[in-house]
Amino acid sequence: MMHFYIMTLFPEMVLNGLHTSIIGRAEEKGYISIEAFNIRDYTLDKHKKVDDYPYGGGAGMLMQAQPVYDCWQTIDAKIKEQRTYDNTKKTRVVYVTPQGEVFHQQKAIELSKEEDLIFLCGHYEGIDERVLEEIVTDYISIGDYVLTGGELPAMVLIDAIARLVPGVLSNHESAQTESHSNGLLEYPQYSRPELWHEKRVPEVLLSGHHANIEKWRAEQSIKRTKERRPDLFEAYEKANK
Ligand code: SAM
Repeated sequence: MMHFYIMTLFPEMVLNGLHTSIIGRAEEKGYISIEAFNIRDYTLDKHKKVDDYPYGGGAGMLMQAQPVYDCWQTIDAKIKEQRTYDNTKKTRVVYVTPQGEVFHQQKAIELSKEEDLIFLCGHYEGIDERVLEEIVTDYISIGDYVLTGGELPAMVLIDAIARLVPGVLSNHESAQTESHSNGLLEYPQYSRPELWHEKRVPEVLLSGHHANIEKWRAEQSIKRTKERRPDLFEAYEKANK
């Protein structure tokens, strides 16, 4: 069972997004749990304010350190109370930020081995650096562009990580052969009918000859990666020399 904890100003946004389809079902079945904590609930400001102007000037507002830190402390204490394994291990805290390492499948695999993971979603112009220095273990970006908040990035990461947790996908095979699992893109796939818009399903897939099908798929996978992602193909060739 893997536990996800999300620190956010918009808990309903992440929970609504993650409570549907495969991830929602995985939670119902007890393979994962997802909890969202509203950072605003932890502010000591009497007007419930969580942001302020950045020192030195500049555009926008910044999330302040205190509510973020107190929210994290509550989650960290809760995890320690519930934990059945080594209690001295620091729970990883992922800050989703355009200033992080760009997310990829190997990172998803690595993070799926954790039992507890905390996500921190920024908003406005980001978060006071001092609290990041104290609690964050991983800085992860979902790509070189800027979004208004960390909620969508956290949902992207949780979806990619959760589907690797054993039991979440009904057929575990499908996580092992798909794009990026072996450094290549997946081969093209076809379903019924055999003929659609005058396009026929490749003959080999109807042959029932397992070895030929595997061979065809491996070739297609290489061809597709070469065409669409020459950067990935180059890395694949280097690694397999
Ligand atoms: N001022 C920040 C900067 O220049 O790096 C950008 C802040 S952004 C408008 C607000 C929040 O959205 C960030 O704190 C972060 O949590 C999230 N965010 C935006 N783009 C992201 C991306 N590409 N990957 C991950 N998180 C992102």
